[in-house]
Amino acid sequence: MSFPSPLAIASRNPGKLREILAICADWPVTWLTVETHEGPWPTVEEPHDTYLENALAKARTVATALGAAALADDSGIEVDALGGGPGPRSARYAGEGATDRQNLETLIRALAGVPASGRTARYRCVAAVVWPDGREVWAEGHCEGTLLARPRGTGGFGYDPIFVPAGWERTMAELAPEEKDRISHRGRALRHLRELLEREP
Ligand code: IMP
Repeated sequence: MSFPSPLAIASRNPGKLREILAICADWPVTWLTVETHEGPWPTVEEPHDTYLENALAKARTVATALGAAALADDSGIEVDALGGGPGPRSARYAGEGATDRQNLETLIRALAGVPASGRTARYRCVAAVVWPDGREVWAEGHCEGTLLARPRGTGGFGYDPIFVPAGWERTMAELAPEEKDRISHRGRALRHLRELLEREP
């Protein structure tokens, strides 16, 4: 088994950090996060059009700056009525520096008038680990669902109050954290990544 330790999490998003630490609670690593690390934490850019390139860019930046292996998640929501957008631009859908609430309201407005049958979407996540010596592994996960016209629930983050996962009647924001982690794009990507790390020489 070759889990790098310590392992830095290349994210400043509190919702993501909380979920990653819960999903990976049994990983045999010491975690480094922006919330616990003393000293400067690098600013990471997400300049690319794909989740994989962004995840690798974030993990490489943090691995190089801290001299420790880094785990990054790049994720987004793909809405069929918007031709698959906003995708990797989900965090900036309402503009650079937009809040989760502004992004959610922008998506609700963009889908006004779209009938229930056309409100299909999916969350997608690529999770990657990069070592300071240049080794890289990654895995993908997705979660299908439909989008409500009005938000429901207070859990999760981002677009969760309107995202109803396939096979459920509650929104992601109405699920218990363990329920979300079991079916989410992030949970799936990170559990697959764990299997790959277990196989690393
Ligand atoms: P990034 O990976 O930092 O580019 O940001 C991902 C963005 O996608 C978040 O800011 C949210 O807008 C959205 N997103 C990703 N995962 C989730 C999720 O689990 N729930 C709700 N929104 C999500």
